[in-house]
Amino acid sequence: MYCEVYIENSFLGNKTLTYDVGGFSVARGMRVSVSLRNREIIGFVASVHNNKPEDFEAMPILSVLDDTPILNEELWLCADWLAYRTVSPIIRCLQTILPNKLKPQTSSKKAKKERIIVRTDLTLHHPTAHQERFLDHFKQGDSMTVKEAVKLYSGFRTLIDKGLFDLEDREVVYSEQMIESVKASYQLTDKQAEVIKKVSMTHAHTYLLHGVTGSGKTEVYLQLAESVIKENKQVLILVPEISLTPQMIERVSTRFGQDVAIYHSGLNDQEKYEQYQRVRNHEVNILVGTRSAVFMPFKELGLIVMDEEHDTSYKQENTPYYHTRDVAIWRSEYHNCPLLLGSASPSLETYARSLKGVYTLLELNERINHQFPKVSIIDTRKALLSRQSAYLTDELLEAIHARLERKEQIVLLLNRRGYMTLIKNSEDEVLQCPNCDLSLSYHKTDRSLRCHVCGYQTGLKNNMKLVGSGVGTQRLEENVQALFPNARIARMDADTTSKKNAHQRILKSFIDHECDILIGTQMIAKGLDIPNVTLVGIINADTALAHSDYRAVETTFAMLLQAAGRSGRGGLTGEVMLQTANPDHYAIQCALHQQYKKFVSYEMQYRKIAEYPPYSYLISIVFNGDTEEETFAASLEFMKILNGASYQLIGPVMLRKLVRKYRSRIIIKGKDLDGMIQLCHQAIDLFKKTNRTGVNVDVNPLTLES
Ligand code: ADP
Ligand code: ZN
Repeated sequence: MYCEVYIENSFLGNKTLTYDVGGFSVARGMRVSVSLRNREIIGFVASVHNNKPEDFEAMPILSVLDDTPILNEELWLCADWLAYRTVSPIIRCLQTILPNKLKPQTSSKKAKKERIIVRTDLTLHHPTAHQERFLDHFKQGDSMTVKEAVKLYSGFRTLIDKGLFDLEDREVVYSEQMIESVKASYQLTDKQAEVIKKVSMTHAHTYLLHGVTGSGKTEVYLQLAESVIKENKQVLILVPEISLTPQMIERVSTRFGQDVAIYHSGLNDQEKYEQYQRVRNHEVNILVGTRSAVFMPFKELGLIVMDEEHDTSYKQENTPYYHTRDVAIWRSEYHNCPLLLGSASPSLETYARSLKGVYTLLELNERINHQFPKVSIIDTRKALLSRQSAYLTDELLEAIHARLERKEQIVLLLNRRGYMTLIKNSEDEVLQCPNCDLSLSYHKTDRSLRCHVCGYQTGLKNNMKLVGSGVGTQRLEENVQALFPNARIARMDADTTSKKNAHQRILKSFIDHECDILIGTQMIAKGLDIPNVTLVGIINADTALAHSDYRAVETTFAMLLQAAGRSGRGGLTGEVMLQTANPDHYAIQCALHQQYKKFVSYEMQYRKIAEYPPYSYLISIVFNGDTEEETFAASLEFMKILNGASYQLIGPVMLRKLVRKYRSRIIIKGKDLDGMIQLCHQAIDLFKKTNRTGVNVDVNPLTLES
């Protein structure tokens, strides 16, 4: 017997290699170890057959990694489709679809144990403040893993010695919190009921649920999910970034208890595998997860929900450059179930499609509590004229002060991180990353200079000088702290959140009101829904508007709209302050007045003039090589292959060098996406026959950054 094996090798493309099965038992969908040019590598079995190769001697496979196929038939089809649709090697799609390092050891079902502490009925007299806070987490009989306990109170072992806790071992449980209470659902409003009535649960169709924050979209998802579960089918709820949307998880979990699995990049491989198995064995009915959850092995899907469908984290930014929405549509068709896209600011593509009737548009126009935060604009040009800081204007400072006095909380949003001051050498040249064409950023905590793309890091030297006055999150924190010495401030940006669960820890301490002000990059605009937050200050609402990318205005608008919808959801009324030097810009004005449709009509005019999506489709083809000459020559050769195509070709242009690679890009623009994809496949196949320069294809790129 022989088998066809997919192997990761950029020159093979989608071709398989033939190996001799020998005495092993293999089937399609199992991983095998094989030898290629004297190296042992892992491949996927695509098929098993007995056609002896004629012109060569097939090598034997070395070992088989799985007892049973790890990919089901649906996901094979999905991988095939994905490879075609994203113009990428199928092996890369298979790797994307499977959870990280799905290893045979983990499938042997050895139950992992963990140590826990269990609260006894003893009481502690004269506890310290720390101990008291820690004990507040428990009722009698409650338990917690030792790992968690250490994080909350490193001295908890003294409480074991005092007999307040017992130490036990238990089997690793899936979710960190065991949620028992199951909350009843709300009586739907008429509008919500109308929306639900319009969703047909019996066939594949895509719906766009457009509704402002707080209009009851989540409740619609939950009630639809309830009806699906009653039929014993599964529900997939996709969210942008789990650590940033704790409220969604909490709401799904309190509604459905143990029937929920959570899947996101913060889980380790064992945890991911456990969730994968729970879904595959239909042990849970609901999965809440981020981008990669769209590939989970559901048996019988009855509903897919994609919340915040406009969010850019749904797009994978390396090969295969897929968009979660496209995969969700594919799977909804396979399972013959509805897909519900939800957003307060749908992407223009989605909205345009819903206006054309490709998707069905459902709307929830009003907030459940009919309350909107007060939104005001602060013109930073005027502030500068009266010698105020453009970053912390007097008006904003006063508002912060008032909130602190009333013990309310504040969120400050800034769209940059680090210090962002330029660093020059003694020759007055701006210091750049040696691997990328980007200037280095200064990080004050460790006096380091860093590249935000490749991670290059070096120390500040005496002959260097800092110039410029840009403000980053770190500097903003310092300034705010200096002005409000008693305020407790937390910062959330890519620097403070690089460690596992750092997001959750920072957010939790803010939710628990252990700090008064949360400062962060746009990552905090998502999912923040904290009742005690009564002021959201957007430090620089317009930095992204100046961005050259065609989508920059749309993303800025979505961010502002979302941030403006975040405050004042508790009993307290909220206020949002937008600081900007472009108060009249339509993105700012429309966000200010929560006018999504008006924004769309403006933005569509620009897109139409430039023939950008949704008026066209783009495919970006990026070449990367070790020298500028090689890279540019490769793109010229590709242009020759494309020559005569009936689509607009843009480029080639050299882009920034990134991570030691020179890059150049060609863009194909046209209205017939299928034809463009087909052309791309043909061109890549031809190109790869003679050229070994790396090439990445991005169909429907979200950004066209230089
Ligand atoms: P969205 O997802 O659009 O932001 P939510 O579903 O979170 O909106 O609803 C906003 C708030 O209104 C939530 O606190 C939710 O619990 C509440 N809510 C939603 N639907 C109802 C309803 N039918 N009756 C009462 N309260 C509701
Ligand atoms: Zn770099």
